Amino acid sequence: MVSLFDMHVHTTAGSPDSGLDPEELLTECRRLGLSGALVAEHNGWARHEYDRFVANHDKDVVIIRAIEAYTNWGHCICIGMDQYVSGMNNVEILRKEADKVGAVIILAHPFRFLFDPAGVYTRNVLFEDPKTLPKTAIEATAHIVWKNVHEVEVVNGGNIEKENRFAQEVAKVLGWAGTGGSDAHSTAGLAKGMTAFHGDIRNERDLIDAIRARAMTPLENYHVGRTALYSDQNVEPIMPFLQSLDYYETSPVLSGPDYMP
Ligand SMILES: [Zn+2]
Ligand SMILES: [Zn+2]
Repeated sequence: MVSLFDMHVHTTAGSPDSGLDPEELLTECRRLGLSGALVAEHNGWARHEYDRFVANHDKDVVIIRAIEAYTNWGHCICIGMDQYVSGMNNVEILRKEADKVGAVIILAHPFRFLFDPAGVYTRNVLFEDPKTLPKTAIEATAHIVWKNVHEVEVVNGGNIEKENRFAQEVAKVLGWAGTGGSDAHSTAGLAKGMTAFHGDIRNERDLIDAIRARAMTPLENYHVGRTALYSDQNVEPIMPFLQSLDYYETSPVLSGPDYMP
């Protein structure tokens, strides 16, 4: 059974800039028919509070907690790490800490601002120097960050199309599946970016295993009934699900790894 997850949501449980209550998230997931959501909080969601929340609600929607950590190479969604560890704002240290506890790291919105004129607040964190911008997805994979994360977010609801498409091309070069999430801070835009896992995701363990196996396919615009595939890889396992929808579209065919938006 395909499990549908929004893999990047912020709630009031651990993100001061969010207006979305976890209760409201559950209700909205049910309304949209999602299997669950990954709550990737800026400050983390305290274990005891999360446990209490889960204990007090039906398990038909699976809410999993994660930390969206700010690092030297951008925002890293860490699944399986209980809390911030000293030094984890450095991706290499973060990876060592993640390996100790079997956690996985998804690099979130890696190419945000890449195509903007570089300004103080609009600089891409991986390629800060406008003179060294990658011209192709292959060039972008030379960055050291890819050795220290497990997967990459290719659909981010807060990104512009070009930024997401470039991430998707990089994922393809790396041989990764890519994930999708909305980065929603309210019910608006929830499930704009989605990940269809190929099997059942009942808990954090299942989620980590599925990400390691890359048994997933990123999707976009599920929330408005215009579900679009965001990859031309890993499509077969989710075809029955797509065909069960009233409408879906396959992603435009891109020109290959040299594609530059
Ligand atoms: Zn972020
Ligand atoms: Zn975020």
